[in-house]
Amino acid sequence: MKKVIYPGTFDPVTNGHIDIVRRAVNLFDQVVVTVAVNPSKKPLFTSEERVEMLRESLKEFDKVVVDYFDGLTVDHAKQVGAIGIIRGLRQISDFEFEFQMALMNRKLAGDITTIFLMPHERYTYLNSTVIRNLASLHADVSNFVPPIVQEALIKKFST
Ligand code: ADP
Repeated sequence: MKKVIYPGTFDPVTNGHIDIVRRAVNLFDQVVVTVAVNPSKKPLFTSEERVEMLRESLKEFDKVVVDYFDGLTVDHAKQVGAIGIIRGLRQISDFEFEFQMALMNRKLAGDITTIFLMPHERYTYLNSTVIRNLASLHADVSNFVPPIVQEALIKKFST
């Protein structure tokens, strides 16, 4: 069984992330979507909220499991028995950081391979930071995020 993990902050999950999951599901037997707890990043949503929104948004995919981790990505990959780490590449600007991280992870764990997937062009400009900023200004983000995320954002910024 070929299993991969797809780690990220997912603060919150967007349609771009879901596009990457859909592609990964077509290639592998199981995709473990892993929320990085990352308290130093001061996320808008708690890890529990991020996990819950991912579970709801990805419930159509039988091959997807959502969990969270606090530590090294490669350790988590080994723990769940994954052969690789999925990352999304939107544009050249993602490349340098991702390349560095992939090589470092390879040094840490040579048997875990990083796999880059490109989303549909319509998602190349989409990221969670832009979504949080738009939502904080009460913009309509329904074209960019699943309904449960839209509702959560409205709630978050209504007070
Ligand atoms: P961000 O980079 O927006 O803070 P995450 O840390 O949650 O988001 O990202 C997790 C992974 O998903 C990264 O590999 C990132 O490049 C990828 N990703 C994020 N947004 C998109 C998108 N719109 N299309 C494709 N991949 C994406």
